[in-house]
Amino acid sequence: MKQRLEKLQTWMKENEIEVSFLTSSENVFYLSGYYTDPHERLLALVVFQSEEPFLVCPGMEIHDARRSGWEYELLGYSDIDNPWELILSSINKRINGVTKAAIEKEHMNVERYEQLSRLFPKAAYVSAEEKLRKLRMIKDARELKIIEEACALADYAVEVGVSEIKEGKTELEVLNAVEYALKQKGVTEMSFATMVLTGANAASPHGNPGGTKIQKGDLVLFDLGVVVDRYCSDITRTVAYGDINDKQKEIYDTVLKAQLAAVEASKPGVTAAEVDLTARRIIADAGYGEYFPHRLGHGLGIGVHEYPSMTETNPLIIEEGMVYTIEPGIYVPDIAGVRIEDDLFITADGAKVLTKFPKELQIIK
Ligand code: MN
Ligand code: MN
Repeated sequence: MKQRLEKLQTWMKENEIEVSFLTSSENVFYLSGYYTDPHERLLALVVFQSEEPFLVCPGMEIHDARRSGWEYELLGYSDIDNPWELILSSINKRINGVTKAAIEKEHMNVERYEQLSRLFPKAAYVSAEEKLRKLRMIKDARELKIIEEACALADYAVEVGVSEIKEGKTELEVLNAVEYALKQKGVTEMSFATMVLTGANAASPHGNPGGTKIQKGDLVLFDLGVVVDRYCSDITRTVAYGDINDKQKEIYDTVLKAQLAAVEASKPGVTAAEVDLTARRIIADAGYGEYFPHRLGHGLGIGVHEYPSMTETNPLIIEEGMVYTIEPGIYVPDIAGVRIEDDLFITADGAKVLTKFPKELQIIK
């Protein structure tokens, strides 16, 4: 945590930012080690160039915050306190006035921005988000270990899901069995709402599971992730129930070929765009270009969507320590939806694939 704070402080010095006022649960956790979802209440980590930082949280959480290992000042406020007065006095104890402050512009709401502007009427406000995204993009050994655990549980979840496939079962019944099995293993949270989609529903990249029943000849798509110690995994597998037709097979083979090629292309020194285009070209050459309507993948960590964004135009250079997904898909309405998604960790030698559930077409009888 200390090193992370120091990196932020170096950036603040370079940019003459006297104070950073960070408010998202994810960034506060990344820099302080304390995670909470404060709902509508204010959570803030206040960082200075050299003075000690302080953490603002609901008073009832003070003990949890302390137990998380935060060793600097903790500012708890009750539901009848005005936290802004407490914040002002804590800032004034450290520095004389603010001319430039970094805030999370995409996260902070207007009400809080107005409160802060009232405290520091002369301050200019810059965005802290881009810096935090870049810091979080490169994972350390401890983060990798946790993500590997989350990926192993995601593999297990798909295994359970595939074993639950049966004629006439609904998407929700299968989903329920998957999440029940995970809870039995101690999992408390999924990375996002689990997707089990069958038949025509699988042809929607962001479909919602419901009462549709699995039938012979369907492709069944699982997209899910597990949270371990605040870090997310994200896997997609598509399997066949009973015999599928040649068109469905061709679509599956094309997605798999594109996915494997993009994993192979993932290594330090190439751009995100090159990796995306490796997969996109294979899909376009097979005649399905228009049916692959989203980016190839996304970084992943404390958030399920982080940097790097794996788009066909992103010039960002892939580096050792990045974790991102490779998830090409082809969605032809009424015919088939196939997506195959793995989580990758980038090493000096190339990609280490963290999700390991088999990708060859599985035909469930
Ligand atoms: Mn994903
Ligand atoms: Mn996914």
